[in-house]
This record gives sequence, C-alpha cells and structure tokens, in this order.
Amino acid sequence: MILYRTTIINPISASKCQFFQDGAILIKNKKIVYCGNYKKFPNTKIFDYREKVIIPGFCDTHIHLPQFEVRGTFSGTKLLPWLKKYIWPEEAKFLNTNHAKKVSQKFYKDLIKNGTLNTLIWGTIHEKAVEIVFNTCPIRAIIGKVMMDQNSSKELLETTKKTIKITENLAKKYKQNFAVTPRFAPTCSFESMKQAAKIAKKYKTYIQTHINENKDEIKWVKKLFPKFKSYTEVYQKAALLTEKTILAHMIHFTQEELKIIKKTKTKITHCPTSNIALKSGRMPIEKLLQEKIPFAISTDVGAGPDTSMFDVMKAFIKIHKKHKKITPTESLYYATLAGAQILGWQKQTGNLIKGKSADLLILDTKAQKNDTANTILQKIMQKGKNYYDNIIYKTIFQGKEIYKK
Ligand SMILES: [Zn+2]
Repeated sequence: MILYRTTIINPISASKCQFFQDGAILIKNKKIVYCGNYKKFPNTKIFDYREKVIIPGFCDTHIHLPQFEVRGTFSGTKLLPWLKKYIWPEEAKFLNTNHAKKVSQKFYKDLIKNGTLNTLIWGTIHEKAVEIVFNTCPIRAIIGKVMMDQNSSKELLETTKKTIKITENLAKKYKQNFAVTPRFAPTCSFESMKQAAKIAKKYKTYIQTHINENKDEIKWVKKLFPKFKSYTEVYQKAALLTEKTILAHMIHFTQEELKIIKKTKTKITHCPTSNIALKSGRMPIEKLLQEKIPFAISTDVGAGPDTSMFDVMKAFIKIHKKHKKITPTESLYYATLAGAQILGWQKQTGNLIKGKSADLLILDTKAQKNDTANTILQKIMQKGKNYYDNIIYKTIFQGKEIYKK
C-alpha cells in the first residue's frame, strides 16, 4: 500500500468539490482505498507531497489523433475550408503506417504529459492506421475509424460498402472500446449512417460524430438532406442517436433539436478552444443545463490548439463569462468526472473516490495557507501554455507512475 500525503482537489459534481489541505490518498492494488484528511495507516509507504497538489486525471472526450502534428496551425480559417484545405490532406497521410505509428506515439506521450488518462479518440478512415492507434494506446480509450463515403477529398473517399466493412471488422474486434464514427452528415450517405447505427447496436460500441458546429455546415446539411427538418433529425432517423452517442459541438440548434437529444439520451461534448479558433460561435450551455443534458468539455485537437485540459478549462470559463459564471472547480468537474460520466465510466474513474482506479495527477504547485480549491486552480489557469507544460510533476494511471517531469 502506498500513501500520498498532499493537498487534494476532488470534484464530486458540478457544484460540489472536496478540498483537503492536509489530505491523504491511500492506494492498494491499483485502486483508491482512502481519500480524505490526512491520517496514519499501518504498513504503508508514505510519499510526502505536502508541497504538491493532487487532482484526478483528465478526461478528453473529443480529440483527433491524426491532426496532432498540425494542431492550432490554421486557426482563424472557418470549419469547411479548414477541413478541405488543411485537415483532410493531413489525415490522408495515415495511409502510411510508419507515419501513423510515429504520430500515435508522439500523441500519447503528449497526452500523458498533460494528464489526460481517459479519452474518446478519432482516427482516420484507414483500417491499419486505426489498429496502430489501438496498439500504441497506454491509457483508457475509445477509438473510432472515420467514415466518409461522399463529398470527401479523393484520398479519403471510400465506397459505402468499404466504409461499412472496415467499421464492422473493427467493431467486432474492439467492441466497447470502439466508436462507430461517421465524420459528419455531409460526408456520409444516409445508407452508410443507417448501417453504422446497426453495427453499433450489434457490437454494443459507442457512436461519435460532429453536429451543428458552423452555419455553412448546417446549410449544407439542409441541402443534402431536404427531407429532414433539422441536422439532429438526420442523425435521429439514421438511428445514430443513443445513450452511447457523443456529439461534438452542438452550437447552433433549435429547441426542437434539443428535445430529440434529450429524448434519445444522447451526450454532448463541448470544445471551447476549438470554437474560438474556428470562430464557430458559443455553445449556449445554459440551454443544456436547463434541459439537464449531460455534457463534458474537450480539446478537439487539431482545431483546439493544445492537448492541455487546463487550456480548455480556461477557455470554457472565458467563453461563457457574459452568460454564465463558471467557477474553476466547476470547470475541473467538466474536464474530469463529467467526461467519465458521459462515457459511462463513472464507477471506474473520473475522481478520487474510494473503490475507483488510482488515476491522478500530482501537480507541481504548493497550496498556500489561505488557499481554496478555487484559488489554486485559478492561479494555474491564469498562466499560459508554457506553464501548463510544466505543471504536472507526475502522472499516475491505475496506481502506476507513467510520467515524471
Ligand atoms: Zn472534431
């Protein structure tokens, strides 16, 4: 058994966060057996981290691994030209398995350094590359193979038959660690989306896609699917909206669409840094909160410029400032436990509760006498990227140290 004596910030819900100035976390067999005020336990190896702060590992519920090398490079361009001009050519490179391997290894190294231990990842269309993304993964992850059978670049265009076949192969192999991943309605035929939904149901996989991010994108969907009342209805009629579906963005929508999301128990992932970078607009979180629709926050790298969830938490508070006051501990909840909840992992991970996996971050900062959980997080977030790059002293995953500064 090992014991960390340290300051602990532990989100319990959006409005509740535990804070132990002189706290202790006891770990046995990869799991947390105690988290609270400091006390002694027999037969334990004690690590004195009173000059550090511990928080749960981050959960990033929307991130594109193949865009890692160009993250943040083309900010300012809007969604559709950005995709076609910069992103699709970058994803086409994943046909080369050496490239896929090199980028995957760099990506995971960076994620661990930034404290992300739970994640929902996008791969590319390529079967072999997606296998590599699975095989190189050192953390808890769900991974998807992108589907594109219309309106795509030449290099990324698949036949409906092929996109379904590869998706089914991978779903069968990885089951609950796989996400059926139609890129978004414009690049997917209705037939491919219907088949995708069937595969997800058969193999009990997750489903992930994008929705209502940009106004030109929404106009395009209206033109392509004139029979349907809304973008959300396209996915609903394809049977893609389930309680294991995670939709990214959901910025511009009608009340009618929100009703469908609620009825189907679909989950939302909100990407504030990406929305700022591509000038997509502000997601009205107050409407989601009012309807009690579960959501988490995520990086959306490469539109989001950085894999650091501190960067996302800071942007999350800032983008909603005029509409809703969000506290630092609330933003930590959306970057950790809320993510685990929308993925159905809340019993295993997401915060530092007895019985959960010991997935935690030891931060290289010291709590001052009058500090609270909010002031500690606030001081970290005030700083920028260079500071976030160095704030994590150690990353602990399932009780094991997987990164040290
Ligand atoms: Zn995305």
